[in-house]
Amino acid sequence: MEDKTKVLIVGAGFGGIALAKKLSRNKNFEVVLIDKHNYHTFQPLLYQVATGGLEPDSIAYPIRRIFRGHKNFHFRMAEVTKVLPEENTIETNIGKMDYDFLVLAMGSQSNFFNFETQKEQFMAMKTVPDALDMRSFIMQNLEKATVKMGNKHEQAIINMAIVGGGPTGVELAGSLAEMKHYVLPKDFPELDTSKLNIYLFEAAPRLLAAMSEDSSKASLKYLKKLGVHVYLNAMVSGYDGKNITLKSGEKFQSETVIWTAGVKGNVIEGINKKAIQAGNRMKVNRYNQIESHENIFAIGDVALMFTERYPKGHPQVAPTAIQHGEHLAKNLIRKMNGKQMLQFKYFDKGSMATVGRLKAVVDLPGYKFQGMFAWWVWMFVHLMSLVGFRNKVIAFFDWSYNYFTYDRPLGLIIRPFRRK
Ligand SMILES: Cc1cc2nc3c(=O)[nH]c(=O)nc-3n(C[C@H](O)[C@H](O)[C@H](O)COP(=O)(O)OP(=O)(O)OC[C@H]3O[C@@H](n4cnc5c(N)ncnc54)[C@H](O)[C@@H]3O)c2cc1C
Repeated sequence: MEDKTKVLIVGAGFGGIALAKKLSRNKNFEVVLIDKHNYHTFQPLLYQVATGGLEPDSIAYPIRRIFRGHKNFHFRMAEVTKVLPEENTIETNIGKMDYDFLVLAMGSQSNFFNFETQKEQFMAMKTVPDALDMRSFIMQNLEKATVKMGNKHEQAIINMAIVGGGPTGVELAGSLAEMKHYVLPKDFPELDTSKLNIYLFEAAPRLLAAMSEDSSKASLKYLKKLGVHVYLNAMVSGYDGKNITLKSGEKFQSETVIWTAGVKGNVIEGINKKAIQAGNRMKVNRYNQIESHENIFAIGDVALMFTERYPKGHPQVAPTAIQHGEHLAKNLIRKMNGKQMLQFKYFDKGSMATVGRLKAVVDLPGYKFQGMFAWWVWMFVHLMSLVGFRNKVIAFFDWSYNYFTYDRPLGLIIRPFRRK
């Protein structure tokens, strides 16, 4: 394929997949997509896997299968460790690879801020293994609670806490609360589930800070109705594996503390240090080119593009990554044809979050709504966004089963989770 332009894409997330799909249909390009996993993860529904609403294979899809029939496409399962821009090469755990254009689409990881050194004590939710670990840990603790009734740590064992009241924290809190009300009393009749507390701590004065006031208020109301203890203006200042301390001095017990309070970009060695800015994101121009790297681009969560409308960069959400990927494909094709690249313009599709059964909040540009209709919209959008027909069908079946029976395929501890 020596006559073709070789594009290496690192990361098969929303951005990498969108770019590779468009580019690999063009005969002038040889596309190599690299990911450390052999599947694409639909991260918005990770919390459903963590709480037993969906099985992991409903939200993950094999990368090779997405690209069946794409002639100019290759997949390599590898972890990229370094870029050598002067040689147009990357280093991976399976060897070196060269490129004409390199696109970094490695997404982000949890940002533990001051808690980085003790991050192992928290549960994260960025990958399928994270979600399965969380599910196992919750079930292990509930099993433990049945034999440790009266133990002085009992409360810490059964309580669950979430740090961060963004969409992930809110959706997770709602899902855990439903599990507490509808599933656990049937599966653990010997447990007094009324003693199980679900805490949600948010440092800002409102939940869903990136959404409208109406959505914040509605989500708070829904969570309170579900019995979640929501604390606003509540900055977590300490955690010892059992006790959470807030900046105000208040203390809470919980062995299960789920961290959803922020993300930082996954950057790799070799990129101009000046380009790596706030939140570990790589500064790109309006064509997704990384500062001082002519043929290296960044898209999605890891890219930081300043525009007048978005002076802090675009939101780190799936539509940004998809739009970056699709736009860059167009630009690389234009570049190959000797045409000027076009500036990227973000199209805001709005945002939404669900807060348990029949309740959701939706902010569309110029139109906001909450409640049951919002929940149906949320269901439809997420179902249609899942990759692969099989995944859509299975998720639809699991959600319908859950809707009619109030039950979930929850509870297998196949691979027990042990804290490091
Ligand atoms: C729990 C959760 C809920 C979310 N909910 C929503 C939502 O409701 N709506 C929404 O729009 N967005 C949501 N998001 C955000 C959205 O998922 C991200 O913005 C989006 O996934 C970013 O896409 P990306 O292509 O930049 O990276 P990702 O989708 O994160 O993909 C990055 C890929 O790079 C791979 N990778 C990373 N480092 C390397 C390496 N060194 N070598 C090889 N491969 C590597 C990873 O394995 C991964 O497959 C949520 C995120 C999370 C975690």
